[in-house]
Amino acid sequence: ELILAIETSCDETSAAIIENGKTIRSNIVSSQIESHKRFGGVVPEIASRHHVEQITLIIEQAMEEAKVTFSDLDAVAVTEGPGLVGALLIGVNAAKAIAFAHDIPLIGVHHIAGHIYANQLVQPLSFPLLALVVSGGHTEIVYMSEDGSFEIIGETRDDAVGEAYDKVARTLGLPYPGGPHIDRLAKEGNESISLPRAWLEPDSFDFSFSGLKSAVINTLHNVKQRGEEVKIEDVAASFQASVIEVLVEKTKRAVNQYEVKQLLLAGGVAANRGLREALEKEFGSSTVELLIPPLSLCTDNAAMIGAAASIQLKKKNFAGYDLNGNPGLELE
Ligand code: ATP
Ligand code: MG
Ligand code: FE
Repeated sequence: ELILAIETSCDETSAAIIENGKTIRSNIVSSQIESHKRFGGVVPEIASRHHVEQITLIIEQAMEEAKVTFSDLDAVAVTEGPGLVGALLIGVNAAKAIAFAHDIPLIGVHHIAGHIYANQLVQPLSFPLLALVVSGGHTEIVYMSEDGSFEIIGETRDDAVGEAYDKVARTLGLPYPGGPHIDRLAKEGNESISLPRAWLEPDSFDFSFSGLKSAVINTLHNVKQRGEEVKIEDVAASFQASVIEVLVEKTKRAVNQYEVKQLLLAGGVAANRGLREALEKEFGSSTVELLIPPLSLCTDNAAMIGAAASIQLKKKNFAGYDLNGNPGLELE
C-alpha cells in the first residue's frame, strides 16, 4: 500500500511516499526559514508564494526518490488544516489535481494527527495511549482509545509552547525560529533566575505559558534598568526548566490517571533536547512505553501526514473534490 502525502500548512513544502503506513520511501522537506527570518516570523503571503513555486518539484522529487509512478499509488493525502489558509490551499489543490487526474482516493488529514502519527513511523502504536503535543501553534495532551480517536484532555489557555519559545528568543535577540537556539543555550547556562510555573487548578491538564513569557521579558527589562547584566544562557536555562517541569509533571499525572500503554511525544518542540531527556528520565524505566520521533520527524513533514492517512485509508475515510483548506479544523 502506497500513499503520496503532501504538507503545506505553514512554512515547509513537503511531499512523501509512505508504504503500509509505517515505512518512509521518501520524505522531501523544503524549508522556507531563510525567506521568513528577516521578518522574525512566518509571513503568510510569502509562504503561499513559495509553496506554489515548490510544490510540483517537491512531489516529483518524492516520487522519483521512492521510484514510484502515479499508477502505483493507493491514495493521495494532504494536510487539510489547521494552518495558514493560503498555504493549505496550495497543497490541497495539488492533491485534488492528482487524485482527479489519476482517479485515486483523496484523503484530508489533520496536521496534529500527523504530528502524533509521526510516532508510527518509529514503532507500532498500542492503545490506549496519551500524546503530549507540543508545537508552534498547539500544546495539548491527547487521549487515544483507538486509531483515529482523539480526545483532548488538556490544552494551553494562551500561548503554545513553541510560540513562547519563539517570543522569548526574539526578546533575547535570537534568530527565528528561536526554539532550537534556546535549547542549545540552555545546556550551557544555570537555572539561576527564578521564574513562575503555571500549575492552574490542581486537577487540570491545561497549560498556560504567557505568564512565564512575560516574566522572562520583565526580568530582562528590570536587569537592564538596574544597569546589571544577565547571561543569556542562564535566561534560556531558567525558561526551559520552567517549561519542562510543568510539561513533565502534568504528563506524569495524566499517565497515572489514564493507565495507558504508550506515551507519545509529538510536534516541533518534541525536537527539544531538554524535554526529550526529561521524559526519558521520567518514563524510561516505567511500564508505559515512551515513543519519541527522530528530530527530522518532529518538525513539519509530509511523512507524518502519510502515516496518519494510512488509518483513514483503512477506514475508507475519503474526501470529495470539494475538499478545502480549513485553518480552524478541529482534531476531535
Ligand atoms: P502546529 O504544528 O501547531 O500547526 P507549526 O507546524 O508551525 O505549528 P511545528 O513545525 O510543529 O509548528 O514546530 C515549530 C516550532 O517548534 C517552533 O515554534 C520552533 O521554535 C519549535 N522548535 C523546534 N525545535 C525546537 C527545539 N529544539 N526546542 C524548542 N522548540 C523547538
Ligand atoms: Mg515550520
Ligand atoms: Fe506542525
